[in-house]
Amino acid sequence: MKKLNLNEVQFPFFLVWEITNKCNSKCIHCYNNSGLPRKQELSRESIAKVCDEIISNKVLRVDVIGGEPLISEHFDYITDRLKNFVSLTLITNGICLKNTKILRNYSQIQVSLDGLSADYSAARGVNKFPAVKSNLKKLIAIKGPEIIASITLTKLNLSKISKIIEFCIENKIKHIKLSEFIPLGRGYSQKQRLEPDAKEYAKIKALIKKYSGKCRFEWESVPKLNSNSQIMPINKNWLCISSEGEIMPDPFIPLSIGNVKDISIEKAWNAGKNSKRLTFSTILNNEEKDKILSFNKLLRCDLFTK
Ligand code: SF4
Repeated sequence: MKKLNLNEVQFPFFLVWEITNKCNSKCIHCYNNSGLPRKQELSRESIAKVCDEIISNKVLRVDVIGGEPLISEHFDYITDRLKNFVSLTLITNGICLKNTKILRNYSQIQVSLDGLSADYSAARGVNKFPAVKSNLKKLIAIKGPEIIASITLTKLNLSKISKIIEFCIENKIKHIKLSEFIPLGRGYSQKQRLEPDAKEYAKIKALIKKYSGKCRFEWESVPKLNSNSQIMPINKNWLCISSEGEIMPDPFIPLSIGNVKDISIEKAWNAGKNSKRLTFSTILNNEEKDKILSFNKLLRCDLFTK
């Protein structure tokens, strides 16, 4: 197998693109504090520029996330621009499906499902389980994209996971993603109430074995960061773009290596490759270190944009 030499890679293979922070749900665990759009979300002109870069650099895969991407005014445009060039994945809450035809262009559609009926409303702050249930049926009927049910594990739903899995099996959803709780954004203030401990996660891992012949399971862990954790601005083969155009090494770390309004993704990526390894303690002062988990502040790291 050929070993990947990052110096030979001129552009990330894979982009996670938050196309808006606007959301029609109010999840108590939302790591992104989504709800209202951010102040300076990208204009159509900047969005077109990002699409041009993605296409000309032959990116393999783009994950379209939010907020809720399906309520973004740019969703159809982005899908139409990228559909013939890139493998597309959509991360949605599934509340609002306006046009299933355009969704045929996606390889995977991941729909959040943290509970059923009243448990759904308790986790998501909106009473939309009937709409999501009906939309899941429509999505399964599209026959094309792989439909994935995505469950964020919190203390509120641990005892209900079997019921959610059985609901998925009954509704012909064959792929379930279980994500560990992320103590960022709104989740930060709810950490004590919501975060499962290691034993509780282990019980869920044991539970899903019971269903392993019926569904494919994916487990998303959350790295435990502290002020000595190291950050490499470019240490993988992917990057994130925020709805305001910040180019970020990771959606969970409030560090930007430039903004697409000022710099091309290619330039930021290649500048970042030559940068040194940083720790949180080298880039954050004490006050900011305390705030890191609140994700309230985005730090611009000009070192990588020179
Ligand atoms: S978790 Fe997803 S659906 Fe819920 S508020 Fe955040 S962005 Fe919206």
